[in-house]
Amino acid sequence: MASTGNRYSDEVKDFARSIYKQSPETNTYEKVGIAVSEKFDFPKALGKSTIGDWIKNGAYAKRASERNKEYRSTIEGMINKRLHDFKDKQKMRSDIVEMLPNRHETVLELIRDRLKDVKGRNRMLATTYIKYWEEHRGLEKISDTEWRLPCGICGDEVIITPKGADMQLDHITPHSRGGTSEPSNILPIHKKCNQSKTNMTLEEYAELTSKVSKYLEKKWQK
Ligand SMILES: [Zn+2]
Repeated sequence: MASTGNRYSDEVKDFARSIYKQSPETNTYEKVGIAVSEKFDFPKALGKSTIGDWIKNGAYAKRASERNKEYRSTIEGMINKRLHDFKDKQKMRSDIVEMLPNRHETVLELIRDRLKDVKGRNRMLATTYIKYWEEHRGLEKISDTEWRLPCGICGDEVIITPKGADMQLDHITPHSRGGTSEPSNILPIHKKCNQSKTNMTLEEYAELTSKVSKYLEKKWQK
């Protein structure tokens, strides 16, 4: 396979792979969420109080709310909040996508459509992106209805079909953090990998996964 010119660190990929190995029935996205919640104990602490306790014990609620605020100002808190909010919604959405008939006949149509949502694209042609991915990211067109390339986060293959159910276009450096929409900054990756990265930069994502990885290693050794 051609060089992918991958900028994601080996640490991130090793982490994602090790998670799949350890627990194939749970995806990285859920596993990171579980590990983070266990480590920081915040959702557990809330889970223990009943609604009655919650109302009666104003001090506890206040403490929890302060802890919540502090927690969510960290990278760990930010990702966990996202995971919590999006997990159920995403599951529902992907179930719906699976049931829907194809909106597109070919992958090219799908990519053209998806690129319309890429912010600040300046009307760059879809073919410009596709050519870049072929040359630098290892994109291979198998047929009109199946393209593939290695995921920039976990390294496993992303298979792109006209449904595009398992693929999202990622701003490698998030648009909200100053990332451009040049072809070099846009990459098709797994939906679940995009969700666990959220709007972190690669450096922040690497830092988080390294922390979670160390934590899980310790936990699984016991
Ligand atoms: Zn992936």
